Amino acid sequence: MRIGIDLDDVLGDHMGQFIIFHNRSYKTTLERKDFTSFNLSKSLELPMEETRRHLEEFYKSPEFFGTPPMNGSVEAIEILAQKYKLVVITSRPKEQAKDTIDWLDRYFPNKFSDFYLLGNQESYSQKKKAHICIYDGISLLIEDSLENAQDCSTGTRVILYDAPWNQSENLPQMVHRAYSWGDILKMIGSKSIFCIKR
Ligand SMILES: [Mg+2]
Repeated sequence: MRIGIDLDDVLGDHMGQFIIFHNRSYKTTLERKDFTSFNLSKSLELPMEETRRHLEEFYKSPEFFGTPPMNGSVEAIEILAQKYKLVVITSRPKEQAKDTIDWLDRYFPNKFSDFYLLGNQESYSQKKKAHICIYDGISLLIEDSLENAQDCSTGTRVILYDAPWNQSENLPQMVHRAYSWGDILKMIGSKSIFCIKR
């Protein structure tokens, strides 16, 4: 089985670091719960152009380079890599390729068999992840974007890593919400995610 795994806010605590960066640089008092939309511009209540500028600055900041892995992700990937082919699928900008690979090598050396970097937010189409999943024979995607999860779920099982920005009253049959990497391991181990929800 091939498992596709998103990077930001699934493998690494991207948002935690972005909040620290933003509060330091712009004297804001943002908290994780304020990010109720996957669209940063909406959550920050800033125009797209300004949001993009903040994001570009973040990618050069000490906070970005100090991004820690999400709680339990290193241990969970260690376990999953023994049994499955793991593939990173991220929508990070192409300019971040080297820093992203360096970060993966630091925390997850030799754990991933493939790596897809799908481009920046501006040109990023939600469809891309769904296409990659089908093209690459991904059986399961672990993701924190509700939109990506919904889009991919027409052909791929998805574990949605819970976050303030992916809340929804209803999830498609193929999408299962997890609250931690421990949850994810249990779901995969028990194969419960492959049972049809009723
Ligand atoms: Mg993500």
